[in-house]
Amino acid sequence: MSAPAPAAFRHDPHAAPVEAAERAKRLIDPGFGRVFTDHMAVIRYSDQAGWHDAHITARAPLPIDPASSVLHYAQEIFEGMKAYRLADGGTALFRPQANAARFRDSARRMAMAELPDDLFIESIERLVAADSDWIPEGDGALYLRPFMIASEVFLGVKPSAEYIYMVIASSVGAYWKGGVRAITVWVSRDHTRAALGGTGAAKCGGNYAASLIAQKQAIAHGCDQVVFLDAVERRWVEELGGMNLFFVFADGSLQTPPLTGTILPGITRDSLLTLARDAGLTVREEPYAIDQWRADAQSGRLVEAFACGTAAVVTPVGRIADRDGDFTIGDGTGGPVTDRLHQSLVAIQRGTAPDPHGWLHRL
Ligand SMILES: *Cc1c(COP(=O)(O)O)cnc(C)c1O
Repeated sequence: MSAPAPAAFRHDPHAAPVEAAERAKRLIDPGFGRVFTDHMAVIRYSDQAGWHDAHITARAPLPIDPASSVLHYAQEIFEGMKAYRLADGGTALFRPQANAARFRDSARRMAMAELPDDLFIESIERLVAADSDWIPEGDGALYLRPFMIASEVFLGVKPSAEYIYMVIASSVGAYWKGGVRAITVWVSRDHTRAALGGTGAAKCGGNYAASLIAQKQAIAHGCDQVVFLDAVERRWVEELGGMNLFFVFADGSLQTPPLTGTILPGITRDSLLTLARDAGLTVREEPYAIDQWRADAQSGRLVEAFACGTAAVVTPVGRIADRDGDFTIGDGTGGPVTDRLHQSLVAIQRGTAPDPHGWLHRL
C-alpha cells in the first residue's frame, strides 16, 4: 500500500508564546517531563488520504472523540530522544534515524500505519527549530516525545483506519538531581513485562501500563525501579521498566541480555555496546540468570551493573532487593567501567569528543 506523498509542512506559529523571562524561570530547574515548549508537530493519517496535514502549531489540548479507538484498545506507540546543545553552540539530535526505524517497527507490531522516516525526522527538526529557545544550557536537553494514537471513531476491534502522529518537547535537566547516584532495584517475582510473541520489543504505552503495578511494588519496598525476569522460566534477567541492563565483570568483560523479542532494543544499549567494543572490551549479548547475578555479586566475579536509556543515559545499579535475598554490587555506588562508558557517550552527544560512527545529526 503506497500512501500519497504528504503536502509540505505548514507552520502556524504560537500567537502568544511564553515570554523570555518566564521561560528562563522555568528552565532553572526543569526536572523531567514537566516543562513543555510552545509548539507541537502534528501529522494525520487515514487509509484514504495517507499521511497529510503535517504542521507545527501551538501546543494545546487535543479534542478527540471519546470513541477514538486508542482510548479503548490502546493502539499507541511512542519514542524518546533528545536535542542537545553542543559545546560549539550548535544543536544536534543523537541517532534520530534509529528512532525513526524503531518507530516504524513499533507501528508494524501494533498494526498501525508506518510513518516514513523522512517525515519523522522532518517533524523533529521543525519542532526543535521552532522551540530552540527551550533547549536548556549545561547538562539539560530538549526531550522529544514523538507518539502516535489510533483516532478512528469506532468501537469495533480492528486496526484503526486513522492515526494522529504528534511530537511534543520538554525541557529537561540532568535526570538525577545532584549528580548520578546508584539506584536500588526490586526483582519482580509476581509480574512479567513481556513474553515471547508479545509486545516487549515495541515501544508502546501498553507495556508501561502493564509494568506500573510492579514499579509500585518496587517503591513500596524502598527501591527506585523494578527489574523484570523472563516470562517462561522466571529466571533470566531482562530489563527495568524502561531501561536496559548491563553487567560488568572483574575480568573486564561486559554482558547484556540478547534481543530475543521480549526486550526493548535501546539505542543507548546499542551505542554502549559499540563504544565498549571500540574500547577493546569483551562484550557478550547472552542471557544472565538472577541466581547467577546474586552469586557473582557475592563472589566478586561481578563488579558493576548499570541501567541505560535516553532519559537518564547511564545509571549504576547499586543494590538488588529480592525474595531470595538482597545483594549489593561492588561497594553499591557504581564503578569505573560504568563511569567511563557514560562519559564517552555523553562526550559524543555533547560534541566534545570525535564522533567516529556519525551518530550526531546536526540541526
Ligand atoms: C525506551 C526504552 C528503553 C531505552 O531505549 P533508548 O533508546 O536507549 O532510550 C529501554 N527499555 C524500555 C522498556 C524502553 O521503553
